[in-house]
Amino acid sequence: MIPGSFGYHRPKSVTEAIGLLNELGEDARPLAGGHSLVPMMKLRLASPAHLIDLAGISDLKGIRADGDDIVIGAMTTQHELIGSDLLSSKIPLVRETSLVIADPQVRYVGTLGGNVANGDPGNDMPAVMMCLGAHYHVTGMTGERRIPARDFYQGAYFTALEPGEILTAVRIPVPAAGHGYAYEKLKRKIGDYATAAAAVVLTMNGGKVVTCSIGLTNVAETPLWAEEAAKILTDSALDPATVKSAVAAAEAITSPAVDARGPARYRTKMAGVMLARALARAKERAH
Ligand SMILES: Cc1cc2nc3c(=O)[nH]c(=O)nc-3n(C[C@H](O)[C@H](O)[C@H](O)COP(=O)(O)OP(=O)(O)OC[C@H]3O[C@@H](n4cnc5c(N)ncnc54)[C@H](O)[C@@H]3O)c2cc1C
Repeated sequence: MIPGSFGYHRPKSVTEAIGLLNELGEDARPLAGGHSLVPMMKLRLASPAHLIDLAGISDLKGIRADGDDIVIGAMTTQHELIGSDLLSSKIPLVRETSLVIADPQVRYVGTLGGNVANGDPGNDMPAVMMCLGAHYHVTGMTGERRIPARDFYQGAYFTALEPGEILTAVRIPVPAAGHGYAYEKLKRKIGDYATAAAAVVLTMNGGKVVTCSIGLTNVAETPLWAEEAAKILTDSALDPATVKSAVAAAEAITSPAVDARGPARYRTKMAGVMLARALARAKERAH
């Protein structure tokens, strides 16, 4: 399929991009890697009259430490996340997740900003960012605001981004040294979105869980932060009975769509299986 015609703009700064978005109005959309937006345009599910390509804005690139946080520019590609020594040593969950997104071709151009701003419940990074307690830096005509990832997702393709705003960076607090982590994703084949997936970050002391955070992908209209399940696990030794209760609590908050990936009940169960696997691997890695 061929997309409808559109105007193409390539600003050099965030200020210029925001000016264009506000001047051109609701028919204008930011373009990042284009690996979600362009397929939607080809299917005529999106028909923006103007694309504001963010690729020429160098300020939106890069991965840097800032105090106890790591700040990742919105236009940083998934391939660059995989290659970052800083992320591998401080927040290895980001690398592990990036490696199961799509395939190398998509990851060379698909960006972190596009993945989290898109609002597709099938995207892998949003649940991971909720799990990690990340904040999104968002800039518009009235200045910058920081939105917790846990408050950002409001429905499928519906987020806290206001028209005319650009997501400029993702700020992630570095988890405690020695934390355990895992991202478990069930997919039908390489390159597919998740049937269900679970992200876990936890810390342990003396064989017991001190802190725990859980995110779930593609089992509701939005990514999910499974707060109750994590509470059940806190202070436990991750014994089978407690894990079973936590899995049941996580399954209870899901409401998956029925699509080619399976019936809702199956996907809910798979979210539970992914969570149990992620907990087991996170426990092994915690020290
Ligand atoms: C074959 C295939 C398989 C895929 N499999 C997976 C998968 O398994 N898991 C997964 O997570 N993803 C998957 N994807 C999606 C891929 O990761 C996309 O690259 C990503 O979702 C969007 O990033 P992008 O940079 O391409 O954004 P774009 O497609 O350019 O933009 C996506 C949306 O976000 C908006 N946007 C982009 N950047 C910003 C910004 N900085 N501020 C405000 N709005 C912005 C755009 O206007 C658009 O609405 C797949 C894609 C393909 C083609």
